[in-house]
Amino acid sequence: MTMARIIFHIDMDAFFAAIEELDNPALRGKPVVVGADPKGGRGRGVVSTANYEARKYGIRSAMPISEAYRRCPDAVFLPVRGERYHQVSRQIMSLLKEYTPLVEPVSIDEAYLDMTHSPKLFGPPEEVAREIKRRIRETTGGLTASVGVGPNKLVAKIASDLQKPDGLVIVPEDQVRQFLWPLPIGHLWGVGKRTEPVLEGMGIRTIGDLARYPQDELVRRFGSWGYQLWELAQGRDDRPVTPVWKAKSISQEKTFESDVDDPEVMDATILELADGVTRQLRDEGVQGRTITLKIRLEDFSTFTRSQSLEVPTDRFADISRIALELFHRFDRRGQKVRLLGVGMSNFERGMKQLTFLDQLGDRDDRVDRVIDLVRKKFGESAIRRAITTAGRRPKRRGGS
Ligand SMILES: [Mg+2]
Repeated sequence: MTMARIIFHIDMDAFFAAIEELDNPALRGKPVVVGADPKGGRGRGVVSTANYEARKYGIRSAMPISEAYRRCPDAVFLPVRGERYHQVSRQIMSLLKEYTPLVEPVSIDEAYLDMTHSPKLFGPPEEVAREIKRRIRETTGGLTASVGVGPNKLVAKIASDLQKPDGLVIVPEDQVRQFLWPLPIGHLWGVGKRTEPVLEGMGIRTIGDLARYPQDELVRRFGSWGYQLWELAQGRDDRPVTPVWKAKSISQEKTFESDVDDPEVMDATILELADGVTRQLRDEGVQGRTITLKIRLEDFSTFTRSQSLEVPTDRFADISRIALELFHRFDRRGQKVRLLGVGMSNFERGMKQLTFLDQLGDRDDRVDRVIDLVRKKFGESAIRRAITTAGRRPKRRGGS
């Protein structure tokens, strides 16, 4: 049996305008339009965000500012303060990453979370969703988010939009059809202003109409797009939540206080660095294929040695074994070692998800993950791998 996924879609309400109100409480209750020409003119630019007061006058995103001004001359028109919005966005995204490494930001104020295997999801999704909303409010000083929860991205996204602002809509898997089918087709992915009238011309007004339409006829008319559209109308959408992964590599290195000749010290250091890399991979929810060892000798000559794996990994056992092999094969010609580094690159996006203990396959994995969990709960010093400190004084972890 495959387990239904639990996908959250988090969408901030009137984000830019809400931040302006937050920073200037005198604006509350007034129509606020963000997107004005910073030089003060009202003739140029388009509306970036209108708060809910301004929307009562029919002001919408992407509308020319001149049109917004015509509809509500008394609104407060403000320029975009991108710096500030990004700062708040970063706060929110890092908060979301506390709940799962599988966070996919869609825009500055919107993200998908795959909560299926999140250790944070102990109770019903509703509890966690409420907690996320509350914590966003507290962290930002008062901003509200709307949250949709469903078995896939399509349902979660539509759900988050239905009770805005400050909404929470949860759609269990067995209610997807009841939820989707009465909605106008405009709610579906890829059905916009141009395609809507075409579908309506075929007698398709709701998602249910589309779902009951013969799929082969849609394919004949629209090609693969018609096929996909029909699948979506059935409530089927298996697109994964894919975190944006910008970093090209993760590495840790350590410069010794004095150059080292003792092979045991070097082995222990490599294990410690591999441990640090393993944990960083876990935190980011990625796996890598290529392991790199860096060595700087006492004369400052620097070498790297790499080995790639067939299958990406985030396991300590793999990373440490290969890093040690690379090191043992390296001929340092009698020189002492000044610096060691262990790195991982060649990341895989279709990663193995953070699974919980009972779903884990092999022992190495399980041990690594238990260690991660204990450290998260009780702090850094709670567990150190026995081997890294065996008979030695603890070393400081190298920076990355
Ligand atoms: Mg939004």
